[in-house]
Amino acid sequence: MDVEKAYKDANALLEGHFLLASGNHSARYLQSAKVLEHPKKAAELTDALAKMIRDAGIEVDTVCAPALGGVLAGYELARSLDVRSIFVEKDGKGGMVLRRGFEIKPGEKVIICEDIITTGGSALKAAQAIEALGGEVVAFASLANRGFCKRVGSSVTTKPECKLPSNIPLFSLADFTFEMYTPETCPMCKEGSTAIKPGSKG
Ligand code: ZN
Repeated sequence: MDVEKAYKDANALLEGHFLLASGNHSARYLQSAKVLEHPKKAAELTDALAKMIRDAGIEVDTVCAPALGGVLAGYELARSLDVRSIFVEKDGKGGMVLRRGFEIKPGEKVIICEDIITTGGSALKAAQAIEALGGEVVAFASLANRGFCKRVGSSVTTKPECKLPSNIPLFSLADFTFEMYTPETCPMCKEGSTAIKPGSKG
């Protein structure tokens, strides 16, 4: 499937002048929530992701997403894989925790699913929470990959910023590797425009 077209059609791939959470500027931005706005379209994406995971021979009991961003993608991926869906949430101390009566059995095979993997920080914390309960993290998955971490089947190599362990595979539909600039070197700033915050905290 043409993942970039799916993002563009959903207005999830924005073009303009954006201030990223890192403080850098970019001419493109992924508004990941938008691609999940229509459940039937979201299911097409997670069906494709589930096929990649099955084709790789990964056995999975449960999909776990870090809240809030990963929950919808994780839920749809669990439906596509026909397995259980749970989520972890921030524990207020910089980590993630399983709440709401969700449980993990020792040795349970878990995929950590995000809507988008940037450096993988939230996904790593989710994995640590699952492993602390005796679960086995068998893979990471995301609809989109920002190109810091290497995904299965891509020639894009892992960057130093990637926080995901290299011994666990990352499945993702596509790499979205955008050029980023510091405010001082940003060509759009030089032309006199102002960067806008496009994300959840804008
Ligand atoms: Zn700029």
